[in-house]
Order: sequence, then structure tokens, then C-alpha cells
Amino acid sequence: MKKICLLWLTQDLRISDHMPLRDAVKQGYEVIPLYIYSEEDEHPWSMGSASKWWLHHSLKSLCSSYEGKGSRLIIRKGKFLTVLKEMIEETGAEAIFYHKRVEPFARNSEDKLSGYFQKEGIGFHGYYDNLLFTPGSVLNGKNEPYQVYTPFYKACLKMPVPRPPIAQPDHLNKVNTSIQSLEVDELALLPSIPWDKEFYTLWMPGEERAKERLKYFAAHNVAEYSTHRDYPYMDATSRLAPHFHFGEISPFQVWKVVEKASGEKGSSYLRQLIWREFAHHMLYHFPHTDVSPLREEFKHFPWKKNAKLFGVWKKGLTGYPIVDAGMRQLWRLGWMHNRLRMIVGSFLVKDLLIPWQEGEKWFWDTLVDADLSNNAFGWQWVGGCGADAAPYFRIFNPVIQGEKFDPEGQYVRAFVPELKDLPNEWIHKPWLAPEDVLRSAGVTLGKTYPHPVVDHNEARNLALEYYKTWSHNKG
Ligand SMILES: Cc1cc2nc3c(=O)[nH]c(=O)nc-3n(C[C@H](O)[C@H](O)[C@H](O)COP(=O)(O)OP(=O)(O)OC[C@H]3O[C@@H](n4cnc5c(N)ncnc54)[C@H](O)[C@@H]3O)c2cc1C
Repeated sequence: MKKICLLWLTQDLRISDHMPLRDAVKQGYEVIPLYIYSEEDEHPWSMGSASKWWLHHSLKSLCSSYEGKGSRLIIRKGKFLTVLKEMIEETGAEAIFYHKRVEPFARNSEDKLSGYFQKEGIGFHGYYDNLLFTPGSVLNGKNEPYQVYTPFYKACLKMPVPRPPIAQPDHLNKVNTSIQSLEVDELALLPSIPWDKEFYTLWMPGEERAKERLKYFAAHNVAEYSTHRDYPYMDATSRLAPHFHFGEISPFQVWKVVEKASGEKGSSYLRQLIWREFAHHMLYHFPHTDVSPLREEFKHFPWKKNAKLFGVWKKGLTGYPIVDAGMRQLWRLGWMHNRLRMIVGSFLVKDLLIPWQEGEKWFWDTLVDADLSNNAFGWQWVGGCGADAAPYFRIFNPVIQGEKFDPEGQYVRAFVPELKDLPNEWIHKPWLAPEDVLRSAGVTLGKTYPHPVVDHNEARNLALEYYKTWSHNKG
């Protein structure tokens, strides 16, 4: 009789370059692929609304991929331990293969599962293979984690080169039809109010789509990535982040394609991929940094909670066109350009003095690429309290940022249509435009578009004052 194993899938919704799947097959197991939808175990970061949207489509796509290989994806809902135990009883599986994760709650849960299944004599085989470098393997001369990016990056480049991707299996064993599975629709992941309709114009979740996107990016954008990647009106970045988060594509596959397609020119993109590694290694080494600042002194920073200001920021009604465009892009498309993430983040934590954790939670709910490591890392960077972060006193000026990275206002016009007829000169600062210019562009401040919620220069001075007093007191 053939031995059976469970392939427990989490953020690895692909068939190719899947080390646990490859090894399970190689070791002669009949594989039962299993996805467990478990909100409870994910507490306190249960999946945000935009991520649920993605997951729905990604699971549908994965079901077809497994069917195409003669297998069947089993979907269940419940606590990880309960469902895994049930599945073992029902199938007689002798082992579980899975990808390890770095999120603190996932690691706790994996540790408990490992302890339990070891006692039960069930093999529990975890792989850190959604990252190029195993967390804990890139350390400085003192055997400590790097907290500055460039030395981390250089150390990564000295590691053995990323392995070549693994081909997908031609065929998999059948999965007994008596094993029950939920339909993806039964998970009720899609919203009941159709706020997601524009998502369909930009995104196509699933492994095949991820590969197509990579191919497109390698052919059209990678060579100019370093010069174009900062301009939000261009379609110049890979938009692979959600595919990475859900593991529809692996960093090894991307590394290989980009390296081959562009040689030296791709190095700027590969450097960006190593930021992803850095963020994941940081959360691995400092598991509290999803909610607490890496630089502990920032715990006592006098942030101000202000529901009204937070509300206008979320809605993209701050009166600063570049900030509003970013926030509306996020709401409409579930994604925001990296330059904008930095601009809107700086505005929230410095101009409005709202805690970075509030921004982190909003991004968590609204980004299709919401990823705990990258999101916490990005927000701590913005807040000046994380690894290699922008110093708190470096405050982005939203007008200058707009004029520099969206000089002709295409990005603002796309997401803030009420300003579309303003001339370039005023598009990033409508409150300074002469009355007749506003009138002929159909803009009435306070009516068709808000006045700035704060005066940036005053807000900047206040933030610097806060910072100075706080630095003084803490010292
Ligand atoms: C406040 C803030 C919050 C963020 N939240 C997230 C998040 O929840 N999920 C997320 O994936 N990224 C996050 N980022 C990082 C970055 O903005 C996105 O990865 C990027 O914009 C995704 O678009 P892309 O795939 O087109 O990126 P590309 O420019 O094509 O980059 C390629 C890949 O490199 C990785 N990458 C690029 N920049 C970074 C970075 N700064 N940190 C870590 N990885 C990076 C991503 O996996 C990305 O897909 C955040 C950044 C900031 C400033």
C-alpha cells in the first residue's frame, strides 16, 4: 500500500518550484493537497478584505491547476490542529509537508503542531523555501542580525547563488473522492458590497497569471526599472507583490527570469527583491515588530489619535492631491505605488502625528499584497522607528514630492478627477492657484475638493518640535 502525506498549503499557492511537494513525491508519498482557511489561528492579523478577495481567486486557480495534474485540492475551514488531525484520521496520512512562515503567530502555531505531531509519530516537515535565504542564515560578524540594509544586501550576495527553480510534476496521484472538501465559494471571501469591481481591471490572481506577469515585466520593464520605478504614473514596477505574498510565484523563479532577461540591468530589481528578504528576516529576528517599534524608545513617542484626520486620510480627502491620489488608488485597486506608500505614510505619521500602527492596519485591510513582514517594515521605515529607517526629522513635503514624481500630474488626474482640468503648475497645490484658474478648471475649494486639512509647513514644525522635546526627555 502506498504511503500518504498531507501537503499543507498556506502562502504557497502554486505547483511549480514547490519544494515540499517535490520532496513528498520524491519520497514516494501519495500527496493530498490541503488548504485550511483559519481565521482563529491567524489572530491578531486575520486576513484583510482585499487579501480575502485575492485568496478567493487564487484558490479557484489552484483548484484547476491540481485538477489539471489529476489531483484535487481539499479545502477545509477551522483551526489548523483540529483540521490536520481530522485529515490524518480520515486518510491515514503519515506525514505533513509544508512551507514555514516568519509571522510570529504562524511560528507559534507551527511549533505547537510540530510538538504534537512528533509525539503522534507523524512526520512534520517544514521548509523555509518562500525566501531566497533561510531566516537566521544571514548574520553579521558577531552572529547577530543585520539592522542596516546595505551590509545585509552585501552579505546576501556572498551567499550561494539562489538555486534554479524546480519544474512542476507532470502528473499527481488521484485524491480519494470520499475525502470531503468545501467549494471556494463556501468560504464567502468576496465582499457583499461590490467595492472590488475595479480590482478586476488590474489583477488576475493565480500561478499562471503570475508567470505571465513576470514574463511581461521581464520583456518590457526590467531594463528601465531603475530609472522608472519611482514614477507612479508609469506602469514600471512588476506588480508581483500579491503573487509573492500568496506564493503563486517563488523568488527563485523571479530571480532566474530577471537575471537571464536583463543581466546587469536587472540588478536594481534583484536588489528590491532582497528588501523583501530583509523585511522577512527582521520580523523573524524581532517578532514583536509587527506592533511595536524596533527602536524601543519610540514606544513613548507622543503620537496623537485623531479619528477625524485619520478618516480624511483613509478617504483621500486631505486636500493634498498627491496624498489623496495614493489613498484613492489603494481603495480602488487594492494597491499603491511604493513612492506613494512613502508619501502617504509620511503624511500620516508626521503631518498628522497619527501612530504608524493605524496606517499599518488600514493597509493590512486594503492592500491585495498585504504582507505582515513588508507592511510592518515599511511602516516602521516611514515612522523612523525601524531598521534602516528614514530619520523621523526627514519629513516629505507632499507638494515637492508631487512635482518631482508626477510633474505633469497624470497620476493625480487619474485618481483625483475633480482636479483634472487644473494646469500642471497648480495640480499639486490647488489652494495657491488664482481664483480664475480654479474657476475655469471647475474647482471650488471646500466644495468640489477640500482645503488642506493641515498646513504642511506648520505641521512639519510641530512634528519637529514634538520630536525635539521627546528626544530631549528620553535622553
Ligand atoms: C508604508 C509601506 C507599506 C508597505 N506594505 C507592503 C505590504 O504590505 N506588502 C508588500 O509586499 N510590500 C509592502 N511595501 C513595500 C513596497 O511598497 C511593495 O512591495 C511594492 O510597492 C509592491 O509593488 P511591486 O510588486 O510592483 O514592486 P516592485 O517594485 O516590482 O518590487 C518587486 C518586489 O520586491 C519586493 N519589494 C519591493 N520594495 C520592497 C520594500 N520596500 N520592502 C519589502 N519588499 C519590497 C516586493 O516583494 C515586490 O513585489 C510597503 C512599503 C511601505 C513604504
